[in-house]
Amino acid sequence: MKPSVAIIYHESFSRRSYLTQGTRLQDFPAVLENILKDERFHLLYAPPIREELILRVHSRDHIEEVMRDPLCSTAWHSVGSVVLGAETILKGEHSRSFALIGAGGHHAGRNYFWGYCCFNDVVIAIDVIRSSYGVRRIAIVDTDAHHGDGTRELVKDDPTILHCCICQQNYESSDGTKIDVSAYDKLRGAKSPSERNALYASIVQRDFIPRIREFRPEFIFWYFGFDTHRGDYGDLGLTVEAYEAIARAMCSVSDETCGGKLEVVLGGGSSRSIANNVIPSVIRILGDLGI
Ligand SMILES: [Zn+2]
Ligand SMILES: [Zn+2]
Repeated sequence: MKPSVAIIYHESFSRRSYLTQGTRLQDFPAVLENILKDERFHLLYAPPIREELILRVHSRDHIEEVMRDPLCSTAWHSVGSVVLGAETILKGEHSRSFALIGAGGHHAGRNYFWGYCCFNDVVIAIDVIRSSYGVRRIAIVDTDAHHGDGTRELVKDDPTILHCCICQQNYESSDGTKIDVSAYDKLRGAKSPSERNALYASIVQRDFIPRIREFRPEFIFWYFGFDTHRGDYGDLGLTVEAYEAIARAMCSVSDETCGGKLEVVLGGGSSRSIANNVIPSVIRILGDLGI
């Protein structure tokens, strides 16, 4: 049976985004029209996250700072999107999900936020799926251009969370559950766009996938930033082929290890035209839908 896919959205994400150009999701959900004609794909609307769930991860001061920042106005619905994307999978309603967001998450630690992020969406979702669904072992793969410092701070002492991040540094914790791989080192010497795409995707395929297999997660988050795309603000010269290759690898390792339980969480990236191209492409792969 082919997978069913939930796409989580809120209209505020199209009007406002905590990003330099602000309107990257302006054409959503219209650009998903063709995909949504297939009955296996469903658009769900994100509710705002309840404050008591935010307080399990962030301090009261943090919430007050976020409330004072007008660029964080979509933060409550953004976390709600990521939590709903996880819950719909764990309730057995959908095989996979793609959570759209207005404000990012991976640069939000317990008591700070920066870099277009407000609340740590993935870590709050982890807390919910642990307390309400009994999920213990979780893998996070972060392919945003920048290091997921907030996420790392919040999960660093937890050996039941595998956190694999492509950024600007190389690091491995002593227990092997916290990994950074430098994209700059890997891409050095790449001669063509297709070689850059292949080398970048190979970090996930060769460095991360074997670790995920060995770790045996019960749920996988892919934190997908397209700021690495050619022309976006974290430009690594990548194009959609890199993200498609990673999407295939993430689908197959989730099928192998945890019955396909994979949620893709949107991270950085500011360009409307790139969003319109790469997000539908990844969603098609999640649902095994042809081009
Ligand atoms: Zn980024
Ligand atoms: Zn990193």
